[in-house]
Amino acid sequence: MAQLTDDCFAFGGPLMSVEEAVALIGARLPTLSERETVPLAEADGRIAAEDLHAEIDLPPFMNSAVDGYAVRFSDLAEAGETLLPVRGRLAAGASAEAIAAAGAAVRIFTGAPMPGDADTVFMQEDVRVAGDQVGLPPGLKRGANCRPAGEDLARGAVAIPAGRRLTPQDLALAAAVGLDTLPVRRRLRVAIFSTGNELAEPGARLPPGAIHDSNRILLAALLRRLGAEVSDLGILRDDPAALRARLPEAARSHDLILTSGGVSTGEEDHVKGAVEASGRLVFWRLAIKPGRPVAMGVIAGTPFIGLPGNPVAVYVTLLFVVRPILARLGGADYAPPLPQPVRSAFAYKKKTGRREYVRVSLRRGEDGIVEAVKYPRDGAGVITSLTGSDGLLELADAASGLSVGDVVSFHPHALLW
Ligand code: AMP
Ligand code: MG
Repeated sequence: MAQLTDDCFAFGGPLMSVEEAVALIGARLPTLSERETVPLAEADGRIAAEDLHAEIDLPPFMNSAVDGYAVRFSDLAEAGETLLPVRGRLAAGASAEAIAAAGAAVRIFTGAPMPGDADTVFMQEDVRVAGDQVGLPPGLKRGANCRPAGEDLARGAVAIPAGRRLTPQDLALAAAVGLDTLPVRRRLRVAIFSTGNELAEPGARLPPGAIHDSNRILLAALLRRLGAEVSDLGILRDDPAALRARLPEAARSHDLILTSGGVSTGEEDHVKGAVEASGRLVFWRLAIKPGRPVAMGVIAGTPFIGLPGNPVAVYVTLLFVVRPILARLGGADYAPPLPQPVRSAFAYKKKTGRREYVRVSLRRGEDGIVEAVKYPRDGAGVITSLTGSDGLLELADAASGLSVGDVVSFHPHALLW
């Protein structure tokens, strides 16, 4: 695809919306087919490779939800107190096989199996104990304080659907229904490079004109949180020969290559040429701010994404452009993160035709309503705007800005990865 020039953009040349870009690239990308089986304890964050079914009812047997007395509802008087003899005692883990509740109240504790004929439990706080009898008040419904077998999940039902990124809660459910290993997709192997002659490693002494590379560590940490296996391949100098050699080499052993820097249209931006030398560049400019210059392509059959150089643009494009692509490649379900409504404490103008992410913090307004306050500095290179904000406001492509008091769409940082 021909590169659009800055001029073309200035005259309203075609920008691709984030949705279009993600749909287009998603439709062309294959999903990894490899899978592996991992123990439950190692499955957090992995992608379920198939629907996982409950092997047993959950709970496996009808049991008491409280400490109290199990009875047959049919033994209770229609009005007034019922006095029943206390017979038997069932603690959690006990067997109820030999115990019948007919004509009696069975002392029972939370999690203990219900006697086969009992269907209702009185909480111990609600009864009147009189010697070896117990007085049961009227008004309780049949089935109260009982947990029937399979009420949480029936045997054979889907406990975890294919494509789900497993959470600690999923692991708890899997354990409860009898699973001890889970089939998951293989982790995506992602290679990351930084590009730029000005970059030095963190900790290195800075020669004149140099800055520390902060993008690679940002990308590596975010990608790992998103479940990828990351190969940190270091810094590439702005040297066309080096780029042309290293990119195809990385393509051979990875599922995705990510670079940052070097993809706008400046004279020193060599990534585009290097990709085109060994593959194809699919498109170039996204209607997103920060982050407009994003290069996507294919190198020796492996997808390539060239992110912008500025750290805030790297953050935004990784989470809103790369993340859905990672999901597609890795076989994970993806739905765009659902923003939360908050009130804006500031007015803001933007260009229409592109989506914009604004760094904000939350505070409680005088009337108690949560409102968003803009981070005071805007630049896409301002790293403290990422550490000093609570999240990002998402302003729609068509919006021309916002006014004080508008309800706006807020993404907390922590819900984005
Ligand atoms: P570029 O897209 O290469 O023109 O870079 C845009 C801006 O981002 C420049 O100010 C670069 O110095 C900066 N930049 C590029 N790569 C990095 C990086 N890895 N870490 C920090 N800043 C970077
Ligand atoms: Mg550069």
